[in-house]
Amino acid sequence: MDIRENVSLRDYSTMRLGGNARYLLEIHERQQMAEAVSWAKLQSLPFIVIGGGSNIFWQDTGFDGLVIVNKILKYEDFAEDDSNHYVTIGAGENWDSVVQRTVEVGLTGIECLSLIPGSAGGTPVQNVGAYGQEISNTLTTVELYDTQTDSFLTMPGYDCGFGYRTSRFKTTDKGRYCITALTLHLSVGNPEPPFYAGLEAYLEEHHISEYTPATIREAVIAIRSAKLPNPAEVANNGSFFANPVVDNYTYTQIAADFGDDMPHWEVDNDQVKLAAAWLVDKAGFKDFHDPETGMGTWPNQALVLVNEHAESTAQLLAFRDKIISTVQEKFGVTLQQEPELLP
Ligand SMILES: Cc1cc2nc3c(=O)[nH]c(=O)nc-3n(C[C@H](O)[C@H](O)[C@H](O)COP(=O)(O)OP(=O)(O)OC[C@H]3O[C@@H](n4cnc5c(N)ncnc54)[C@H](O)[C@@H]3O)c2cc1C
Repeated sequence: MDIRENVSLRDYSTMRLGGNARYLLEIHERQQMAEAVSWAKLQSLPFIVIGGGSNIFWQDTGFDGLVIVNKILKYEDFAEDDSNHYVTIGAGENWDSVVQRTVEVGLTGIECLSLIPGSAGGTPVQNVGAYGQEISNTLTTVELYDTQTDSFLTMPGYDCGFGYRTSRFKTTDKGRYCITALTLHLSVGNPEPPFYAGLEAYLEEHHISEYTPATIREAVIAIRSAKLPNPAEVANNGSFFANPVVDNYTYTQIAADFGDDMPHWEVDNDQVKLAAAWLVDKAGFKDFHDPETGMGTWPNQALVLVNEHAESTAQLLAFRDKIISTVQEKFGVTLQQEPELLP
């Protein structure tokens, strides 16, 4: 095993901040997952499995253990009949390349998840979703290495505890399972309207009336590229705050002060979801560049915090806290961070 020592973790987070890993290993085969975990256990060291680093950022103190970077490649398309395909993907595959491959052969099911950065193995962890699709809609099984029993197992999608941007892999069983592959059930055919509002609007505006996996993928890519920075060029972790859910009373208070045009979605009779981007924007952080911390917000989407020239995670955290406290003071709402601070 090619275990490297004292490796900078900046290259293993799209926010490009953080200290060093004591040990780091890139694995390319399923069996290496078992070997890597066993090696860490023998040294009594903690270990973390990561993919593309698009939903994580690291402490300045780094990680005093073994970081296992999943690079396991695999792509197998099994056609059960004329319309049903089961695609098995290695967890280290680049997610968007997977979407592209499925779309190219006319499969529908994950085209709306185009251009989400990171690895295939990262997608079940927070049940990634965009434009009305979630990975849980098509995921039939996940192949895992169970670090408690030291054995491989196949878990059906319905056992993964999927919810909105969550799963058992980031809650009750956090750190227990290492994902090595997933199988998706996709269909030959075309996606059918109605589509998610933003996508529908784009299709109408661009007079696109032929709905194929390819036209929908192109539309999603165009919308996302106009709104979000490419993490290969601009250091960021995507949406930094989750949309907060507040009670009806809090919502009515804010709406009375700031107008009914505030974007919101009714969750149930008692709760309303607010747009975190709107709150950050209205708190004065639209296209904001902070000389003190070297952090800023992306001009087209205030929810995306970008590392312009920050040198430490402490600076990012200071900027984060500045936003949280300003939003709290102005609206009485506490924003929750989405990407994970490791370890
Ligand atoms: C510009 C941008 C846009 C984004 N847009 C979206 C979006 O539209 N929708 C959305 O849902 N997310 C979005 N994200 C978040 C992110 O891309 C996804 O969560 C992605 O699936 C993370 O994959 P990753 O491989 O980078 O995981 P990492 O960031 O490497 O890891 C994330 C978590 O998963 C765990 N993990 C990763 N791989 C494995 C594995 N093989 N086994 C066990 N645990 C593992 C890690 O330990 C960590 O806890 C966006 C991010 C960016 C930067």
